[in-house]
Amino acid sequence: MELYTDLIAVVDLDAGEVEEVDIEEDFIEKNIGGACANNALLSQYPDSVILGTGVLTGTLFPGSALGVVTAKKNGTVCHSAFNWFSGPELKLSGFSFVVLKGKAENPVYLWLHDEIADIESTDLWGKNTWETTAYLREELGENRIQTLVIGEGGEKKSGAALLVNNYWGTDDRNGLAAVLGEKNVKAVAMRGMGEVEISEPEEFISAAEEVLTGLKSKIQKKGAPVEGLEAITQRFDACFNCPYACRNFVETGENEGVVIFERHLKDLMAHGLDVKKAAETLQTCYQLGVNPKYGKDPNALTTMGSQPAQPLEDKEGWYYTLGVCPILDQFGIDEEAAVRAITAGTGLEISADTLDDIVSRL
Ligand code: SF4
Repeated sequence: MELYTDLIAVVDLDAGEVEEVDIEEDFIEKNIGGACANNALLSQYPDSVILGTGVLTGTLFPGSALGVVTAKKNGTVCHSAFNWFSGPELKLSGFSFVVLKGKAENPVYLWLHDEIADIESTDLWGKNTWETTAYLREELGENRIQTLVIGEGGEKKSGAALLVNNYWGTDDRNGLAAVLGEKNVKAVAMRGMGEVEISEPEEFISAAEEVLTGLKSKIQKKGAPVEGLEAITQRFDACFNCPYACRNFVETGENEGVVIFERHLKDLMAHGLDVKKAAETLQTCYQLGVNPKYGKDPNALTTMGSQPAQPLEDKEGWYYTLGVCPILDQFGIDEEAAVRAITAGTGLEISADTLDDIVSRL
């Protein structure tokens, strides 16, 4: 299926087995991708955690870094996003979607690469997220491996648990790290050498370039707009194929620092911390895998009770389906060009109305 790699990995954690399921064109035509496709898989495999990529994730389309994790929490279907390079690595590992069903008897991690999904036993339980990522990269022999990791927050099933991507926080606003903790899954490691085919490459590139030109004409800054942050910033980073380097890297010690996610830093400042202290505290939150939305003491956040589900906001469902970062919405993405990119990329006749209709099911 164009714009996707071929497989869905259905990981049976009870049995320790993986079934590889082909992605059918009909599935994409009905669900497009990302959050909408995850929803469909969750209906098919209830009580699972679904990792999914959007229809444009990992392509030339600007900001196409997004992957989505979906699971039920307290009976509500919740979505959380991850980006950086994890969305593209997940798709290019050969598995555009992963279903994690059941519960492993003992802690495991999942290693996705070259159309192979390995379930590995691990004694990483109890290690923080930084130690876990460093170990996995060393063990699997690749520094470019992307990881989705849980820390103490996820292991203790805290309501404030936060999924961590390598060393940095994701927008896991629903504590889905705790659902992975319930399943005894410490981490998912991903490395992708696969390819994504495009039905009509020239039309696809033309639509993607149109969107990029529009974005570049409006992006006039780097970094998160937080007072005092620029003064302590060492550099600005961007996720895969993103024209807006919104991520400030702040040094917190000798050879040590943290990549800022704006929402998390603002949360800590709202709890009364100054910007420097907030950045330092954020580093500890990411190491423990906890979300500072719920307080400024990272250790206390590892044992919080259940928190209410946070629904998707405004147009997030649309972005979570395409696999494009919703932070770019402030610059006004050309939606008509985005739909053209999907049509040219997949070869399917998908109109803006069809897309909106599918997204409205979220
Ligand atoms: S806007 Fe920021 S968070 Fe979103 S993809 Fe670009 S760099 Fe990443």
